[in-house]
Amino acid sequence: MQVYVNGQFVSAADASVSVFDHGFLYGDGVFEGIRVYDGTIFRLRQHLERLYQSAQCLMLTIPMTPEAMGDAIVETVRRRALPSQYIRVVVSRGAGDLGLDPRLCPTPSVIIIADTIALYPAPFYTDGLALVTVATRRSPSWVLDPRIKSLNYLNNIMAKIEAQQAGAVEAVMLNAEGYVAECTADNLFVMRQGRLATPCVAAGALQGVTRDSVLEIAAQVGLETDETFLTRYDLYTAEECFMTGTGAEIVPVVRIDGRQIGAGTPGPVTARLRAAFVDLCRADGVQVGLQPV
Ligand code: PMP
Repeated sequence: MQVYVNGQFVSAADASVSVFDHGFLYGDGVFEGIRVYDGTIFRLRQHLERLYQSAQCLMLTIPMTPEAMGDAIVETVRRRALPSQYIRVVVSRGAGDLGLDPRLCPTPSVIIIADTIALYPAPFYTDGLALVTVATRRSPSWVLDPRIKSLNYLNNIMAKIEAQQAGAVEAVMLNAEGYVAECTADNLFVMRQGRLATPCVAAGALQGVTRDSVLEIAAQVGLETDETFLTRYDLYTAEECFMTGTGAEIVPVVRIDGRQIGAGTPGPVTARLRAAFVDLCRADGVQVGLQPV
């Protein structure tokens, strides 16, 4: 593992932040999860854009330019010196006192962790997985906009716990109005009447980097796409369904709330998009020269 903490590269054992950091005390901060495939940092620019936009919403001034952040990420990946990596970038409000006031935190903390990721078990990719709708709703934008990728994941964690209590691995989260938003750490797609549909960000979906990639691939292969409002009816009657995310990539979904989706096995469009996504992952990003230092 390789860790960058506020400008210094340190070992995992020495990597630490203050107990007064408001990221720790209040979940006050932002983060990104980024993949490296064959030495290529997949869509680094898009991840940086989302990181800085999330920080902008929180009035959190990241103490380095996006270019300098990009360089620090590249250097962390280079030092880790493995072709396949998972990068976690965290910018927190920094250390303050025990009150909420962000103005009392003069210096945000910047942490970059280069590690590896455990994907979902292989059978989920070959056989598909089952989802359940949970009672915990995705927070509306007037509570905390789900487009902000913040360190506050309790909403998602509560939904994940609910899914696990119901014997499922993953949850479908609805928004306050009952429209489908997303899963706890992944976006959701369905094939309906020959079109590929995914909840729009206004319905409470994060604008996932993988989601955007899949929408682009779909357009390239001539598949019509909709970013729209979906209800559970649209999920239950879908021909195919899958989840997308940086860690999960593209995972077929074959059962939702006990209803079989399509043929009950991963569908052909899902497989086609997955194959194209695997190619894109190695083609679209920042190449890192991986000689161990
Ligand atoms: N939704 C949520 C809530 C997430 O946390 C994530 C990423 N971890 C996603 C969707 C998928 O986004 P991406 O494809 O950028 O990883």
